[in-house]
Amino acid sequence: MNSYSPVTPEIVEALRGLLGADAVSVAQAEIELHARDQSHHAAHAAEVVIYPTTAQGVADVLKLANERRIPVTPWGVGTGLEGNSIPVCGGILMSFERMNKIVALHADDFQVTVQPGIGHKDLNAELARFGLFFPPDPGANATVGGMLANNAAGIRTVKYGASKDNVLRMQVALADGRLITVGSRSIKQASGYDLLHLIVGSEGTLGIITEATLKLVPVPEHMSAVVAHFPTVEAAVQTVVAVRGSGLDPAALEFIDATHAKMLREAEGVDLKDYPTLFMEFHAALPATLETGLEAVREICAEMGVIDFRATTDPGERKRIWHARHHSYEIMVRSHPDQQFFIMDVAVPISAYPELIAFVGEVTRRDGATAYMIGHAGDGNVHVEFPYASPESFERSMRLNGEIVMKALALGGTATGEHGVGIGKAKYMPYEHGAALDVMRVIKDSLDPNGILNPGKIFPTG
Ligand SMILES: Cc1cc2nc3c(=O)[nH]c(=O)nc-3n(C[C@H](O)[C@H](O)[C@H](O)COP(=O)(O)OP(=O)(O)OC[C@H]3O[C@@H](n4cnc5c(N)ncnc54)[C@H](O)[C@@H]3O)c2cc1C
Repeated sequence: MNSYSPVTPEIVEALRGLLGADAVSVAQAEIELHARDQSHHAAHAAEVVIYPTTAQGVADVLKLANERRIPVTPWGVGTGLEGNSIPVCGGILMSFERMNKIVALHADDFQVTVQPGIGHKDLNAELARFGLFFPPDPGANATVGGMLANNAAGIRTVKYGASKDNVLRMQVALADGRLITVGSRSIKQASGYDLLHLIVGSEGTLGIITEATLKLVPVPEHMSAVVAHFPTVEAAVQTVVAVRGSGLDPAALEFIDATHAKMLREAEGVDLKDYPTLFMEFHAALPATLETGLEAVREICAEMGVIDFRATTDPGERKRIWHARHHSYEIMVRSHPDQQFFIMDVAVPISAYPELIAFVGEVTRRDGATAYMIGHAGDGNVHVEFPYASPESFERSMRLNGEIVMKALALGGTATGEHGVGIGKAKYMPYEHGAALDVMRVIKDSLDPNGILNPGKIFPTG
């Protein structure tokens, strides 16, 4: 067990010396603002919040914190859903708010180099002028640093991959203050250990990302959106498996249950029916390819007993549909003003998706729990959302969470498809990784022997 030193006035002065006075704050309001993310996990206050503007500043702070045994928790914009950026051991909260620039656009290579604090939506707004985009899309305007640290994914992962598949090179500050570069700008890389992908998904526990070169793709010439309603959840998820098996290569393949469809219809005025629903998107270079693909999808859906099938290539209609899907979480929260939400995340191989979804239905019905389902179905990923208003209903959702995680593992899946381990999934790590978790611990101890980097995450405590 690591023991840490407090952030004394002397340390605050030293931080001001390294970063400048306006980059260091002990104001209560700023500490509270960075005490919790978007998850259900309890808030915990850091002792000081800092806003570095350079990679060297980040490295200098780590060197100081390491020498003085002070925890450092990196912070993107706090949209994490597993308490990943909550500073549970206090210490220094390092916000990347002021490192939000595009460093270089390498348009001919379909690459961009950015600072970690840039929001992926802000980045894509800039890239649109060049006909390019960075595909991972977690909905919220998460930072690139937070996305790489959590290996965030989202609705376009089924075609373009997760954050890990869309990064080539990173600059990383290590716990002892060294600045290293991992990966390269070459698409093909076979040189030594793959440290790039060791840091990706490590949630700020192995090093702090100070710069990243990302892979980009051209904005597709032609896109279509499909909305398909099914009589049962089973028919909808079987359709997911069939579409994935058809080789049609959807750019998005999303599932929402009937309650979500109703909430979106009522809140956003989108033309949905109150049935289990699939949203799909297809991208193509030629309109004819799109038309042929849509016809094949229509046939698959018909075979699966679709109640209503609509396809559109109209950009306005497509944007309305995806806007509603993207805001489904906020809409759900707004429609339950007296309740809080706990959102869980698991993923399984696509063939096991129907069994996982059936299991979620069974156990929630068995316990009389209210739970909604929404999922990046094309990736075998589901989020179960539990509203709660009492300690009893919270406890029940926690118990169900545990059952669903263990079922996902039994089906060959993972405890978290995209939200990361953070605090909430740490206790499942031994079940998922077995002896491999010991290897992870060795790596952690070797790169961060004093345990200063985002302590209290990933590894189970107690
Ligand atoms: C409405 C909503 C929808 C969401 N949908 C999705 C979704 O579809 N898919 C998905 O994957 N996620 C989703 N999320 C979760 C969230 O957006 C992602 O986890 C995202 O990656 C968090 O980014 P952030 O910038 O907010 O980082 P934070 O939450 O601030 O931090 C996340 C982690 O990254 C670490 N970190 C931050 N910056 C750095 C850095 N520079 N170097 C090293 N570590 C760093 C933090 O310490 C923490 O461990 C959703 C969240 C919300 C609120």
